Amino acid sequence: MTKTLYKNAQVFTGKNEQFESLNFVMDDENGRFVQEKQGDQTVDLAGKYVMPGMINAHTHIVADPYGKIAQLGSPDATAPTATFLALNNLQKLLADGVTYIRDVGSIADIDIELAALERQGELFAPGIVASGSPLTMTGGHFSAGSYEVDGVDEVRKYARVLLKKGVNNIKLMATGGVSFDGETPHDIQLTEAELKAAVEEAHHKGRTANAHAQGTEGIQNALRAGVDSIEHAVYLDEKTIEMFLQKGTYIVPTLAAPWAINQNSETLPDFMVKKSIKLAQAHIQSIGKAAKAGVKLAMGTDSGTAFNNFDKNSSIELELMADAGVTNLQVLQAATVNAAQLLQIDQQAGTIEPDKMADFIVLDENPLTEIKVLQKEKTVYKKGKKVE
Ligand SMILES: [Zn+2]
Repeated sequence: MTKTLYKNAQVFTGKNEQFESLNFVMDDENGRFVQEKQGDQTVDLAGKYVMPGMINAHTHIVADPYGKIAQLGSPDATAPTATFLALNNLQKLLADGVTYIRDVGSIADIDIELAALERQGELFAPGIVASGSPLTMTGGHFSAGSYEVDGVDEVRKYARVLLKKGVNNIKLMATGGVSFDGETPHDIQLTEAELKAAVEEAHHKGRTANAHAQGTEGIQNALRAGVDSIEHAVYLDEKTIEMFLQKGTYIVPTLAAPWAINQNSETLPDFMVKKSIKLAQAHIQSIGKAAKAGVKLAMGTDSGTAFNNFDKNSSIELELMADAGVTNLQVLQAATVNAAQLLQIDQQAGTIEPDKMADFIVLDENPLTEIKVLQKEKTVYKKGKKVE
């Protein structure tokens, strides 16, 4: 059994609040950090900066952000094509420093099966918390790729179907959104009672449930229903922020989604661009206010939506969060320790501590001083294995 000592590094463990001079030791066989202080071999990190691998709590790995191979929800997105996209996208995430994801809208149970293969050690990729297909109302947000469910009983039935398939999270659509025509971010979709039925089923099995919610009323419905995180959370007022604090619910902002659309407005459909431009500023302000108030944040990008890529957008999301007024420390916590808690993987990921998986990133500069350094060259380790 070989162990490697990594020495001479500045380390953000996820538990401390700044980078500190620390050594750490890894068991090369099981890819976990260990308690021991000595290794059989030593790697000198020459004063570089080490942080836990990033966790992206909102992806759609089966999607092609450029719509070249297959548009999300289109008939071209067959299971083989979507699996091909997912495998490629996972490698891109890994290269960007993402060592764990929560996928929140897949097709053909691809995320569930890839999650199992990764757990078994057959697939070298970020760990996956899978949600399978989302639950949406008939004709609701992303109905082309979701189970369309109406009424408490049908929601409960399909929540149980998903849990039987082995999802770790149930994704619910509480409002309309940007990416599809014929709805607005303010539209109420699944009702509070419907959302609650799915949340109950998820929690009975010790799993989580999250809701896509953009307008204030839909966000409040989902908060009252008891979801573990609200995705996007575009329109927040004081009262809603207070509800987040009382319930301890997370926000997964996904600022990269409207940012990517707004950068590419000439090539995208009018309905999408109009909605995206309209909400971008409110979104940024809401996330800034929520962070200042102390609402828990977990990083997520919504990668897979238009031009929202897997190559760079996780590290770009961190810069967008900082620009919105989230402190650099809060940003790093959102991408590591907080996201691990939300995803219920904090026993094995999210911090650099003995017994946890050796998922970490080595950087030349300090991201607490300048968050953009995460977009520069970096070395990524997943379960102790260097990503080449
Ligand atoms: Zn999404």
